[in-house]
This record gives sequence, C-alpha cells and structure tokens, in this order.
Amino acid sequence: MNPEVLLSRIRVVLCRPSHPGNIGAAARAMKTMGLSRLYLVAPKQFPDPEADTRATGAVDLLQEAKITTSLNEALAGTVFVVALSARQRDLGPALGAPRETVARLLAEAAQGEVALVFGNETMGLSNEEIQHCHAAVTIPTNPDFSSLNLGSAVQVLCYECRMAAFAEKPPVLVAGVTPFVSPPASHDEVEGLYGHLESVMTATGFYNPEQPGRLMPKLRRLFGRIRLEKDEINILRGVLASTQVKTGFGRKD
Ligand code: SAH
Repeated sequence: MNPEVLLSRIRVVLCRPSHPGNIGAAARAMKTMGLSRLYLVAPKQFPDPEADTRATGAVDLLQEAKITTSLNEALAGTVFVVALSARQRDLGPALGAPRETVARLLAEAAQGEVALVFGNETMGLSNEEIQHCHAAVTIPTNPDFSSLNLGSAVQVLCYECRMAAFAEKPPVLVAGVTPFVSPPASHDEVEGLYGHLESVMTATGFYNPEQPGRLMPKLRRLFGRIRLEKDEINILRGVLASTQVKTGFGRKD
C-alpha cells in the first residue's frame, strides 16, 4: 500500500495533555514524518498561542485536530491501538520495542485506522486508558531517567512509522543541489602525477634519484589511500606546473 496512505491512517492521540506547548511540538513532530491526524482527549488548555508557536509550520494539524472528552471517542473506528508507556502496568499489554510494534501497526493500517496513544505529562496513561490498547510500547532509555518529553516521544514513534511505511528507505530532500562528482582518475593519470611530482622534486633538490630512499613509495601510499579523481589530478598537476613556470625549473616529463 502507498506509504503516504498508510501514514494518513495513523491517529496520534494525546490523553489529557497539560501543556499546550507539547501539543504544538507533537503536531510538528507528526508533520515532519508525514502523519496528520491529531486527536486530543480533554486537553487542559487548547487552542493556545503556545501550541501554535511550538507547532511552527504545522499549525494546520492543530486546526484540524479532533478534540474529544474521552479516549473511547478518540478511538472510534480504529482497528488497532498502541499505548506508549515508560512503565509496565499490571494488567496492561506487555511492553514491546518501538520498531517491532510499529511494524505490526503498519500491517494493521492496511486494514483500517490505527492509533498511537500517549499519556499525560505528569501521570502518564492511566491503567484504564492502557486497557483500551492492543499493544504497548516503551522507548528504550537510560533506566535511571526513562521519561521522555511528550513531544519527543511522539517524534520517536512518528519517525519509526515513516521508516516502516517506506520500508526503511524514505525519500530524502535534495533541495535542488547536486553534489559535485568527478570521474575517478585512471591508472595512467595517477602515474602521470607521480612522474610529474618526481621531476619537480628532483629539480628543486627535495628528491635525489641517486638516493631515492622511501619517498616515492610513501607518496604512493598517501595517494593510494584516497581514490584520486580526474579533477584532483588536474589541480595537483596544475600546482606543479605553475611552480615550474614561476621558478624556471624545466619540465622533465
Ligand atoms: N511521568 C509519566 C511520563 C509522562 S511522559 C510516567 O511515568 O508515566 C508523557 C508520555 O510520553 C507518556 O505517557 C508516554 O505516552 C510517553 N513517553 C515518555 N517516555 C516514554 C518512554 N520511555 N517510552 C514510551 N513512552 C514514553
């Protein structure tokens, strides 16, 4: 199924969010990853200028957000629901890893609407809320400091959704700039550089062909490490040629 269609079937449900800034951050996190359907269950303060500020270019998601009074209402019509929690709950589903659970979420999205459910900033999800969910995910964290900011948790999951929807290869933004490419230098071009270097170094006295030592092997080792490109050979040989012209050393090659 088309990745964009799959992503459009994922609802991000925030349960009782306290800080409007986090709602804005969640909207931005969603839009950057191609998700668009935000549900707010009994938000403490919404709409709010702080939400708009934190959403920056994702204010459209805030304007289209569905506000409900209960989680039940936000989940109406969904076929698969995943809870996000930093803590295992007694009767809740076992906590799974984001990647595996998101793979299942996307498979379910091919059948219908699905949801990711996030808890309140202070209390997390209630046991009752978790019991509405088919699966639960915990983002692996530092065990001594395991609670992410709500907007950050939304970002991590939306990223996993995008990666899964595009089979790990989402298109990247090229922004109209094509990286510079030069064809690789051929064997004879590289040999031409060594010959040129040797003749200039001989002319300057830096290299004595009677007592060659390990200079040329070391230079070959240096240039051999980097695969020289045609363009780079031209630059280096240009530098050598200009030195010859300026110093009056004759070209030997
Ligand atoms: N103090 C709360 C955490 C609230 S953070 C608690 O201990 O539960 C707000 C929400 O972000 C959480 O309810 C959860 O949905 C999500 N979240 C934060 N850290 C998370 C983590 N490590 N794994 C999964 N979800 C997390």
